[in-house]
Amino acid sequence: MIHFVGAGPGAADLITLRGHRLLTQADVVIYAGSLVNPELLKYTKPSCRIYNSASMTLEEVVSVMRQAEKEQQMTVRLHTGDPSVYGAIREQMDLLDKYSIAYDVVPGVSSFCGAAAALNAEYTLPGVSQSVIITRMAGRTPVPEKEEIALLASHQATMVVFLSTGMLEQLSERLLAGGYPADTPAAIVYKATWKEEKVCRCTVASLAQTANTHNITKTALIIVGNCLGDAYDRSMLYHPAFSHEFRKGTDS
Ligand code: SAH
Repeated sequence: MIHFVGAGPGAADLITLRGHRLLTQADVVIYAGSLVNPELLKYTKPSCRIYNSASMTLEEVVSVMRQAEKEQQMTVRLHTGDPSVYGAIREQMDLLDKYSIAYDVVPGVSSFCGAAAALNAEYTLPGVSQSVIITRMAGRTPVPEKEEIALLASHQATMVVFLSTGMLEQLSERLLAGGYPADTPAAIVYKATWKEEKVCRCTVASLAQTANTHNITKTALIIVGNCLGDAYDRSMLYHPAFSHEFRKGTDS
């Protein structure tokens, strides 16, 4: 059996209890070397065979999984953050289906949640935004035209931009073209929850300059929107006047 496990955003103790248990039991671990904290590998048993997928192709990864299956061993495929976000797990699962190998997925704390924690931010602030757009600039992986940053920016929802730290001039330009005022609050969070974490608050217009000043070129998320500002409405859920299933408010 193969278990796709979310390693969490960085800090080793942010993996789930289930993910940790599977790591301690694994005969084979294939981890995404560029972003998974190597400290997590200390949880494995001494006989566990460990592969870094950074230098492997999809076919090589699946071939290691097939060999482990033949030997009736258990494999953990360790992905950074949550495997469903830019994790390239679907292509692995489709190949495993082809070879009739069973698998499941253990979710993880995505780095966009790690970044919110680093910022003490609430992405879905009442009266500001009730949606979070997770996106990226096009790189070698193209982005569908309908998801172009300026089109998404026109919603003025909270945006979390992955995989784009090297393109911040263009990102600012597309965000401004989409209608964000230049002084809209933004932030760059580098290596959220790692020891090296850096949190830089700035504006939509000053993203590139801020990254330059702090020497940030990769492993960062860009957060954009007025959820990083000061104005919002208080919640209905905890309002004294508001009644709901579990509480009688002064309105009834
Ligand atoms: N599945 C992962 C994302 C993988 S894509 C998740 O759920 O977080 C890799 C990109 O994620 C990086 O280029 C960077 O933009 C972002 N990223 C991953 N870990 C990060 C961290 N700890 N802090 C900031 N950004 C991170």
